[in-house]
Amino acid sequence: MSETFEQIGQALREHQTFAVLSHVRPDGDALGSQLALGLSLQQLGKNVRIWNEDGMLDKYSFLPNSNLLTKPPAGPEDFDVAIALDTAIQNRLGTTVAAIKSAKLWINIDHHPSNPGYGDLVHIDPNAPATGQILFELIKGQKLPITREIAENLYVAISTDTGSFQYSNTTAQTFEIAAELVRAGVDVGKVSQATYENYPRRRAELLRDLLGTMRFHATNRVASFSLSLATATKLGVLPEDNEGLIDHLRAIRGVIVAIFFEELPDGKVRVSMRSKSKQVNVCAICEKFGGGGHVLAAGARVRGSLPEVENKILEEVCDVVSHVS
Ligand code: 5GP
Ligand code: MN
Repeated sequence: MSETFEQIGQALREHQTFAVLSHVRPDGDALGSQLALGLSLQQLGKNVRIWNEDGMLDKYSFLPNSNLLTKPPAGPEDFDVAIALDTAIQNRLGTTVAAIKSAKLWINIDHHPSNPGYGDLVHIDPNAPATGQILFELIKGQKLPITREIAENLYVAISTDTGSFQYSNTTAQTFEIAAELVRAGVDVGKVSQATYENYPRRRAELLRDLLGTMRFHATNRVASFSLSLATATKLGVLPEDNEGLIDHLRAIRGVIVAIFFEELPDGKVRVSMRSKSKQVNVCAICEKFGGGGHVLAAGARVRGSLPEVENKILEEVCDVVSHVS
């Protein structure tokens, strides 16, 4: 583990131009991780581009130096090093890949167990609850710069991917890292409010609609709700509004698997799944449908109409759940 950190640290020090990338439909871990590593490289005097297909999301625009993260330009650029963060499969880097004309070295840092290890220098730690946690270890272990701005980006990355330090992969080490980040200047109250108490009214209206579609299956051990394109259009829903809504299903007593179906404009349905039992590996279920993720949080994009995909997925999930004691 420290061996790849050593190699990655050396590569970061000895090269000059960097592209720091992450996955489409980014979450707090993706954006916070990109900004944190990008800022640390800038502090080292490097030339850094921080690109995401979706650019900076409005809801994360409070992140320090968020303006540095942009959509990729139309014309591709040459780099010494391109870095993929939090991205289990290369095609989830989206249009950022086409913006890299050349890179001598690809670095892949991630915590998804399904990551096949693409790239030249690879560090995948499936036990880390967030890519932000891995980056803290890299930055600290390799004595890379860490400022308050970097700490705050890492804190949001870790906080969002652990469900505010609640999920089972949150360890003593995660809390120790959080403590170090607070000591580095993170204002917990301010950052938490910006992260969790600053949603647009639209998101609550979306939740109201979703709860109206809520259904239970497999003797209440599976709960689902669905968002149709028509509703999304009516409410003016943005993709970023969805993050965390599935937790309302997971929070119900007795529910083992929560599923969120979202009809997409391209004839597919985005399926988001959460499990509360290690006996139900939702990553394995989603992999059957071309997706992936983690044992307890996974997703897929499945071709078909909303009812077709709902039926197909629910059949599979209910079958798996029926074998759980
Ligand atoms: P979410 O449900 O929050 O979108 O995603 C939960 C987890 O599943 C994330 O770790 C994400 O990387 C993974 N995931 C979500 N959608 C997809 C998908 O379409 N393909 C793959 N491979 N992973 C996905
Ligand atoms: Mn992540």
